[in-house]
Amino acid sequence: MSDNEYQLETLAVRAGHVQTPFMEHGEAMFLTSSFTFDNAAQAARRFIGEEPGNIYARFTNPTTSMFEERLAALEGAEQCVATSSGMAAILSCGMGLLKAGDHIVASRSLFGSTINLFNNYFKKFGVETTYVSATDVAEWQAAVRPNTKLFFLETPSNPLTEISDIAAIAAVAKGCGALLAVDNCFCTPILQRPLDLGADIVIHSATKYIDGQGRVLGGAVLGSKKLMDPVYGFLRTAGPTMSAFNSWVFLKGLETLKLRMDAHSANALQLAQWLEQQPNVARVLYPGLPSHPQHALAMKQQKTGGGIVAFEVKGGKEAAWKVIDNTKLLSITANLGDTKTTITHPATTTHARITPEARAAAGITDGLIRIAVGLEAVVDIQNDLARGL
Ligand SMILES: *Cc1c(COP(=O)(O)O)cnc(C)c1O
Repeated sequence: MSDNEYQLETLAVRAGHVQTPFMEHGEAMFLTSSFTFDNAAQAARRFIGEEPGNIYARFTNPTTSMFEERLAALEGAEQCVATSSGMAAILSCGMGLLKAGDHIVASRSLFGSTINLFNNYFKKFGVETTYVSATDVAEWQAAVRPNTKLFFLETPSNPLTEISDIAAIAAVAKGCGALLAVDNCFCTPILQRPLDLGADIVIHSATKYIDGQGRVLGGAVLGSKKLMDPVYGFLRTAGPTMSAFNSWVFLKGLETLKLRMDAHSANALQLAQWLEQQPNVARVLYPGLPSHPQHALAMKQQKTGGGIVAFEVKGGKEAAWKVIDNTKLLSITANLGDTKTTITHPATTTHARITPEARAAAGITDGLIRIAVGLEAVVDIQNDLARGL
C-alpha cells in the first residue's frame, strides 16, 4: 500500500498485511527460527541474495516484515528496520552509519540511555558527541566540525517538552553534509512525520506509544533504502532483532495508535489546562498550551500537544513528593506511553545521576513532576492529583 494512496488511519490498520494460503484475516505470528528451501539451488540463491525470501529469523521474519511495512507506510519511509528495543534501534543506526573519527551533534535533552550510549560506548570506538541546545538552531550550526556525520534529536524533549525545529535543524544538517536522525517516540507518526520535515532518519522506541499498553520492548529505524541497508546489515550480523511475538503485538498496537494518540492528547490538554489553574502549581509545560514558550512551532510541527505534561509545584522536592505519594490511581513509574497514567519525579529518578548544577542548567527543578497521561477519565486523574496539591 503506498502512503499517498491511503490516509494514516487506513495504513495503520491494513498496510503491510501479507496473507498465507490459509487467508487468515488477522496477521499471522510466525514462531520459527528458520525457513526451508525447495532445493539446494534455491538455498544458494537465497544466501547470496539473488532471490528474495526468508532464511533465518535473525535476518527476517514474516511477522516482523509486516510490522516494518506498516510502520514505514505511516512514517512515509522507504524502509524500516525493526529492533529488539528503542536503544537497539539507536545502536544499530550508529553501528550501520558511523565509523571511528566521525562526530555527532546531539540535543542536550535526550533520553538518558541515549546519552550513555554516545558517551560511554560510541566514544570508546572513536565517535565523539557534542551536545547543544534542543531549541537554539544557531548552536547546532556552531557545533559542526568537518567530520560531523550525524545530528540527533528528540522532540518534544523529556521531561520539559522543549520543541526542536526539525525543518530548521534539517536545513543545517543538509548544509554540512550530515544526516539528521529524529527520535519520534513521543509523537509517533500520527502526530509528527519527521521525514516530511527534512529529517533523514526516524528512530522509535515502540515500547512506548506503539505498543501503548506496556507489554513488550521494541524499536525501529526508518529512512531511505540506501541508509537502511547498512543498518539492516548490522542487525542481521549482530542480532538485536525484533521477535515475531513482539512484532505481532506492535502490529496490533499500530491499529489503534491514531485513536489512542488522539485520546492521550485530549486528556493531556484538559489536564494541563486544569493544572494551570491550581494555586500550588508554579508553571505547566505542555506544547498544546498557548503559555508554552514554543506553542506556535509545536502546533506547526505536530498535530496535537501529545500525551506528556510536566509541571512544577511550589515547595520543591518535598511538595513534589507529597503530590506523588498522595496518588492512589496513578502509577509511580518512569515509563510512558501507556493506557495507564504514570507520574514521576525526574530530579530524583530519571535525572538523578546528573549533577545538581547540570540539572539546574537543564531546567529540571526539584519541584518538577512529569505525567504521561493515560486513557482514564481526566476527572479521576485530577482528583488523584488534587489530594497532594
Ligand atoms: C524509552 C525511550 C528510548 C529507549 O527505548 P527502549 O525501548 O526502552 O530501549 C529511546 N528514546 C526515548 C525518547 C524513549 O522514551
